[in-house]
Amino acid sequence: MANDVERKAMVTGFFGEYGGQFIPEPLKARLDELDEAFRDAMADTAFQEEYLTLLRDYVGRPSALTECRNVSEDLGGGRLFLKREDLNHGGAHKINNCIGQILLARRMGAKRIIAETGAGMHGTASAMAAALFGMECTVYMGALDMERQRPNVERMRAMGTRVVAVTEGQQTLREAVDRALSVYVEEPDTFYLLGSAVGPHPYPSIVREFQSVIGREAREQFLKREGRLPDYAVACVGGGSNAIGLFSAFLDDAEVRLVGVEPAGRGTDRLGDHAATLAFGTPKVFQGFRSYVLTDAAGEAAPVYSISAGLDYPGVGPEHAWLKDVGRARYERVTDEEALAAFRTLCRREGILPALESSHALAWALRLLPSLDKGETILVNLSGRGDKDFHSIPEAYRS
Ligand SMILES: *Cc1c(COP(=O)(O)O)cnc(C)c1O
Repeated sequence: MANDVERKAMVTGFFGEYGGQFIPEPLKARLDELDEAFRDAMADTAFQEEYLTLLRDYVGRPSALTECRNVSEDLGGGRLFLKREDLNHGGAHKINNCIGQILLARRMGAKRIIAETGAGMHGTASAMAAALFGMECTVYMGALDMERQRPNVERMRAMGTRVVAVTEGQQTLREAVDRALSVYVEEPDTFYLLGSAVGPHPYPSIVREFQSVIGREAREQFLKREGRLPDYAVACVGGGSNAIGLFSAFLDDAEVRLVGVEPAGRGTDRLGDHAATLAFGTPKVFQGFRSYVLTDAAGEAAPVYSISAGLDYPGVGPEHAWLKDVGRARYERVTDEEALAAFRTLCRREGILPALESSHALAWALRLLPSLDKGETILVNLSGRGDKDFHSIPEAYRS
């Protein structure tokens, strides 16, 4: 159900001037193979069927569409709906992509999976998929993230995955991606299971494709229940996979406003205080593709910060860069504090514990809701559940 630009990007690798493959020759050769396998798989109905069956029987799809009646009533104004990716097996949207890519890995005859992870949710979903398919799995994770996300490290290990601490630089996601890319080139028997809609072509298209089930389901569920489409579709943006998975289905519905929400962190525009790439970044080649990147005075990728470990990445998926430039989506910012307040509101008023990442999207929706008419609707992608974040949430927001 990709639109014209998405279909073209599957061939050229470019969304407007963004995307592409800015990589050394040996990596290009491997990605060309991956590209061919992906396009082959997309044309194979048996592949599609197996993928959709696993989403149903293993992941638990379709995920629910939940109306938040209490919150809507509290705030007056419009009505709030959530697409419940928190209810997927593993607790986030990441598993949709992992199931798709592990099927590609098997199709290509790979025996070993490597993956990067930030908050540990993609690492966990990769560990699940690898265990399910009997493949060896190694996950590269920043040493700082391993500390912040201990329960996920334990979950990965329990499923037989090796978690390798990456101690370079800021010891977070960016360095974990660098390491995974270099291992991928050095070890030809590996399949690199990439976790967000970033990286060199064809990864942004692959991840979008396997996450687009979110938007397809949500669109159909919403239409069936309300007889119309939502006025706003909102998602948080780290690398941009849950957001593009939601947006993709609505790209050609001009009446649906698409809003991506970036982490404003401590709320200043100083480098190192946020990870709002589309707001403060500049177009540049980074980690093998061209997109907006947060850069320092020397033009290097800048340090980033967010309370949410899944959002602090200095780059962003190329399709979002294009959507921003052409004005089809807009990108807003939410601070740590607003995200925490939204976390608390959803816990207290709806009995749902959102991930801190998802709480950013939610916070923007709560900001807008009072100004809407009763008939207007916001659909928020609740990308994951908040259990993993509990120890990083200050006591004041938990009681
Ligand atoms: C990983 C993650 C994100 C951020 O990644 P995207 O690729 O931007 O979707 C958001 N929410 C949750 C729950 C995550 O685990």
